[in-house]
Amino acid sequence: MYRLLCPEFIVESLFSIDFEQLKKREIKGIIFDLDNTIIPWDSLEMCPDICTWLERVREYGFKVSIVSNNWHERVKKIAFRLNLPYVARAYKPASYGFRKALAQMGLSAEETAIVGDQLFTDVLGGNRIGLCTIWVKPLTDKEFIGTRLQRYMERWVVKRLRGKGLLGKED
Ligand SMILES: [Mg+2]
Repeated sequence: MYRLLCPEFIVESLFSIDFEQLKKREIKGIIFDLDNTIIPWDSLEMCPDICTWLERVREYGFKVSIVSNNWHERVKKIAFRLNLPYVARAYKPASYGFRKALAQMGLSAEETAIVGDQLFTDVLGGNRIGLCTIWVKPLTDKEFIGTRLQRYMERWVVKRLRGKGLLGKED
């Protein structure tokens, strides 16, 4: 169980993701979580640096898509603006949304990474179907009430994982 909650990579921000490392691992596509991963929760304003960075990801040759548990029209608007395929109401950690995104990109789970800010949805769901999982720090601490509750559990699990030496040393 604990292994399923362990991300393969942990990064401080999107900008620390090492494209070369992913290429070496034969990753061809990247699925991004939306809220607090590429855009602050409940916001419609993308940080211009992240928009530019997402362009770079694609120029680098990765296929990109968005998989969000959020169900609002907002997901569609943001994906449309970024010109990216998306799955909303994905029910992560269920595999449904991820499978749909993989089909859209024409890739298998083994050649795809998921980048997200939550252990219990993005990392757990990704690990369950064999995606390369990348855990990134949330963009803001403003969150959906359900997410805030999950953060308590997340902190507890992170402590346990660190204790077992599964997440590396505490910084
Ligand atoms: Mg998120």
